[in-house]
Order: sequence, then structure tokens, then C-alpha cells
Amino acid sequence: MSTVESAALTSGSDLWHTTAVGAVPAIMLTDGPHGVRKQITGGDQPGLRASEPATCFPPAVALGSTWDPDLIHRVGVALGEEARAMGVGVLLGPGINLKRTPLGGRNFEYYAEDPILTGILAVEWVRGLQSQGVGASVKHFAVNNQETDRMRISADVDERTLREVYLRAFQRVVQYAQPWTVMCAYNRINGVHASQHHWLLTEVLRHEWGYDGLVVSDWGAVVDRVAAVRAGLDLTMPGPDEDGDRALVQAVEDGHLDPAVLDSAAGRVSALVDKALAGASEVGYDADAHHALAREVASRAIVLLKNDGGLLPLPSEGTSIAVIGEYARNPRYQGGGSSQLTPSRLDDALTEITAATCATVTFATGDPVDAARCADVAVVFIGTELETEGADRDGIELPADQIALVERVVAANPKTVVVLTNGAVVRTTPWDGQVPALVEGWLLGQAGGGALADVLFGRVNPSGRLAETVPLRLADHPSYLDFPGEAGHVRYGEGVHIGYRGFDAREQEVAYPFGFGLSYTTFHYGTATASTVDDGIEVRVPVTNTGERDGREVVQVYLSLAGSRVRRPPRELKGFANVPVTAGDTVDVVVRIPRHDLAYWDARLARWAVEGGEYVLAVGASSRDLRTTVTVRVDGDDLRAPLTAESTLLEWMSDPRGSELLGQAFAEAMAQGAATPDVDADPQLFTFLGSLPLRRLAAFPGSPLRTDAIDRLVAAANS
Ligand code: BGC
Repeated sequence: MSTVESAALTSGSDLWHTTAVGAVPAIMLTDGPHGVRKQITGGDQPGLRASEPATCFPPAVALGSTWDPDLIHRVGVALGEEARAMGVGVLLGPGINLKRTPLGGRNFEYYAEDPILTGILAVEWVRGLQSQGVGASVKHFAVNNQETDRMRISADVDERTLREVYLRAFQRVVQYAQPWTVMCAYNRINGVHASQHHWLLTEVLRHEWGYDGLVVSDWGAVVDRVAAVRAGLDLTMPGPDEDGDRALVQAVEDGHLDPAVLDSAAGRVSALVDKALAGASEVGYDADAHHALAREVASRAIVLLKNDGGLLPLPSEGTSIAVIGEYARNPRYQGGGSSQLTPSRLDDALTEITAATCATVTFATGDPVDAARCADVAVVFIGTELETEGADRDGIELPADQIALVERVVAANPKTVVVLTNGAVVRTTPWDGQVPALVEGWLLGQAGGGALADVLFGRVNPSGRLAETVPLRLADHPSYLDFPGEAGHVRYGEGVHIGYRGFDAREQEVAYPFGFGLSYTTFHYGTATASTVDDGIEVRVPVTNTGERDGREVVQVYLSLAGSRVRRPPRELKGFANVPVTAGDTVDVVVRIPRHDLAYWDARLARWAVEGGEYVLAVGASSRDLRTTVTVRVDGDDLRAPLTAESTLLEWMSDPRGSELLGQAFAEAMAQGAATPDVDADPQLFTFLGSLPLRRLAAFPGSPLRTDAIDRLVAAANS
């Protein structure tokens, strides 16, 4: 292939296709992630809405709340079937950025504020999709956590936070699921555009993680095509980009770009095309089955936040219901932007509630008090008005008129259930104090109406759990002071203390904690046990359904290490299991934590490291409802850093070899008549001297160690 052909292959031919070059045909890449958004060409619908009908599954905000990797796998399979049937080679998802702030405009497209939960779920989404011969595009790599100034903002993050928090889910998906493509983000990271970040796209992604798939740009993310290809970007979208193609050819001819780098990029595009063509098939899909799956998933995503006096589930006869609020008949079921697709059909809660009960159902929007007063129970639908790509939210408060609506309804009928519609957390206080039952209904996709009825009437026992903390106030949030940044930079000042990690570290009260969600039954936890196994830790706990209904429990395992050499959050989710437990039964739940997930990023050693020690594993029903703890001893990695002249006296003394050599050096100096500090007589002196790098000791008059002796010590310590 000529240089001109290689260059042409590395940019798109239009919005959604690669370029056909020679024997390499074009393939289609399209959004994603919660349904196939295949744009209608020549259709009469304007803008982002113009797409062919496809199943609108629940967006990631809802998938995250299921905490169920098997369910997510099935969604991936179904998406793969639809994409394949529609001639799509790559579906642009999953979005796995973390919800760093509740104000993130695309939080509805992301799973969680936790990298382990996000990673575990996304692995199954990718595996499911790719099992159908359609490629995934894991996005947006990386640290794309806000919409404000999204194409230029520099996310300034220290390396430990980057590795442990913001890259962790990407690493997991790359290593466990081998996605066909990874999509680079729009933003800059520590000053460098993600699209031309050599460290990120080549050193970390390919060299460290062993990625051999293709890196595609986010749409319009490339600033400098030559710099991007040199950094490791393979495919620039959208196209055509003839100027960029020419610049690549010129750079090769001028010797500014290694032709082998361009050839590899073109080779990866060609390999992607081959994979997509191998998966192509005209087999259709079962739209009814997909709608049913969308309903099942939506029902599993709903989080029951409050249920005083067992108001829910509602009986299906004999209880009249006033349904109040526009969202009951006109649901908001997805967010705005590139993920917005045309659903193949759309259920609404009012119709589904009416169908589920023999009793009277009345509906009201503007005259709600009378309706509520005359019914046995009122169900009020309220929520946010918009979450969309391209803009962050300006707060977490619900519109004042919606809160006023709730207050009026509760005053008329204390038996009020509130159902929330929102793509990211909203403030629930103080008004939730007045309502006995609160249902978090997120954005639930096209079958959300039926799913809500299933949960309200108890046909599905709720098992959704919060994948993001609901704060009491926005100002409590760990990201609050460092969002959305200024002058082109946003500092990730909270470091590794994202989400619940930060709330826990500062011992702050929250409205509803990470991992929380009620059920119509109750679960008892027995005593947890843990043991080290070859590749990590295995935790076991018996869980008994002590109520009268079958249900599912999400058993969560949080890890702590007291006295760690680095500052750690008090608790970090490391694993979980989503288990069905029939009424009265006990299930022995097993959660495995791979050793790698115990590691922290040691910035001193510039590598992952497992610290040895007594790890405490707290097992429970949420991050703040820990029922049983168990301690397990883990052997650590060798964490010794090389001793240098800049290592402190204390660091030398703490190292067995270092302290031996130092002892000998002091003894020799004394033998030659040098005075050594009498640390026994003056313990403070040791504290003072202990922090001195060895080389600086030599600067003090009368130091027993001179520069030449220090050089010999360093050489001996590292020989
Ligand atoms: C979004 C991506 C999306 C792409 C293609 C961009 O604006 O950030 O998530 O896949 O457009 O529509």
C-alpha cells in the first residue's frame, strides 16, 4: 500500500464510515451505547433525532444500578444482534468515564462513580456485543468527566489518581475483553490532547496493557493529524480529512513521521475492516424479545430509596390510585446528544399502571390535590428536565414547581409514592422526609413504563443499587471546589477520593449512600470468611432471605488497609455478587478479588504494588451498611526503592542492607576520629537528622560522612 493509500485509510469518508481504499472496503461505525443510532440519510427528521428505529435499552445510568454483569452481557448480545442486522461494524460504546461530579452532563451515559463496578459491568457489555461479530468502542479515553469546555479543557490529575481511578476501568476492559476499538477523548490530560497523547495511547495502552486493537478519535477530537498518528491514533473520525491525509504524506516524505507508524495505523484499520466483515450477516433479530429484555433490565435498575410502613408494593386490586405528573404519560427515557436514538416502541407508566390493577386509576397534572385526596394512594412522577451531551448541569436541585407538587400531594394524601426521572443524582432533601416511599427511576429506556409498574406492584422485587452517592448538598461533594475549572484547566484536587471514597474520608452524612437500595424482602448476613488464593482473595458469606418474598441481594465487598504507606480511602469497593435468594433460603455467596485489584500505584516506584499487611474486608448491603468484616493477611510485593544519595537517613536506616552499610560507614568514620551524633542522649536529634537526605548531611560541618563516603555507600547499596 502506498503512503497516500495508507493516509487515506486512516481517516473516515463521511460521518459514519471508514474510507474504502483499494481492496479494503468501508465499514460503518455508529452510536451507541444504549441502542443502535443509525442515522437516516435523506430522511426528513432534523439533527440528532434522525435515526432508524431500534431498541432503546436503558442508558448506562440504569445499567450501572443493576450491579449485574450477566444482565449487562445479555444487553451487549442484543445490541450486537441489532447492530449486525443493521449493517453496523462497530457500535460506539460503552462509555466508561466515571461520574466525578453529579453535575456531569453525560453522567447518564456512564455507569458509576466507582472504577471497579464500571469495569466489571463494561467487560460484559463488550464481551456480549463482540460475541455477535460487532466491535465495541470503549470511550472516552480518558479522563473525560465534564462537558464544560470539553474539547479544550485539561484534566490535571496526578499519576496515582489517574491509574487507580480514571484509567482503571479502561485497563480492565482492555485486558479482560479485548475491545476492537478504543475511542480517545476530546479533552487534554495534564496539558496534552488525548488524541495526541503518546504516553496514554502508546506507552500505557499498547506497551503496558498489551492492546492490539484500533484507536479511533472521538468525532472531531483531532487537532494535529500528524501528532495524533505519531502518538498512536489510528483512525480519525469523521471524514473526509483530505488536508490531514496530505499532511501525513508530507510528514513521511519530510522525515517527520516514521512511515512504519503510519503503516501500522493503516494496518489496524484494515484489520478492523476484516473483523467487521467476518461478523457481517443478514440475520435479523427478535424485536419483541429485545423489548422484553429492555423491560427486564429497566426493572432491575430501579432503586427503591424509601418505603416507610411497607407502602409498596401496591396491591393489584382494591386500592385506587391517583397517578400525577407529566412523566407518567410522557416519559423521559434517555438523555440528549449523540446517544439519542429513535425507539422501536415506547411504554408509558400510566398505561402500564392502569393495566396492572383492577382498581380505579385517575391521572392528573395541573389539578392534583383533588385526585390525590380521592384516591387510596398517590403516585407522583417528578424529575429533571434535561441531561445532554455538550453541557453540564447547573445544580442538583429539582425544579421548584416539582417539589411544590410533591408537597401539595403529600398534604392531601400521606400515602404518596414519588417516582424520580433523572439521568444523574438529584437532591432529595428535605422534601423526601415527608414522603413515605421514594423510587429512583433514572432514565429507563423504551420499556421503562412497564418496568416501573412491575416494581410498583411487586411483580419484580427491586434490587437496583445506587452506583453514585446521593449527597445531602452539592457543596458536600468531593469534587465541589474543583469543578469545572478555570482558564482551561480543571484540577482533580480530591485525588483518589472520588465519590463515596471522599464522603467516607471526611465522615460526611449523605442522603443515600453508594451501593444503597431497598428490597421488598430482608436479608441476613452470616459471618464472612476469607482466604488468600493464588490470584487474590476469596471472600465467602452466607446470605439468608429472611422475608416472605423471593428477591435479589447485591453483596458488596469493601476493602481497607490500616496504616498503609499511602493515603487510602477508608473503604474501596473491590468486588460484589448479585444473587437471587428465594424466601427463607440461604445462599453461600463467593466474591473473588484478583490480586491486581489490591494494588495501589506507587508513584515512587512508578509501578503497581501490593502492600503486605492485614486487609480488612467489610461485607454488606451498601458502602454504609456493612454487616460482617473479616481480616486476611496478604503478602506484599517488594516495595523497596533503590537507595540514593537523596534518600533520607531514616530511609537508609529502615532498609536492612542500608542500615548495615550505614552502620559500617559510621564505625569507620569514628575509628578515624570523627564525632558521631549522640542520638541516645538527644532523641530529637534523630528526628531532625532522620529527614535529611544523605547527601545533605555532608554539607554540615563536622559531618561524619563526606561526599566520597556517600558515593561509596550508594554504590554498595545498589550492587
Ligand atoms: C461523542 C461520542 C460519540 C461521537 C459520535 C461525540 O460527540 O462524544 O460519544 O460516539 O460523537 O457520535
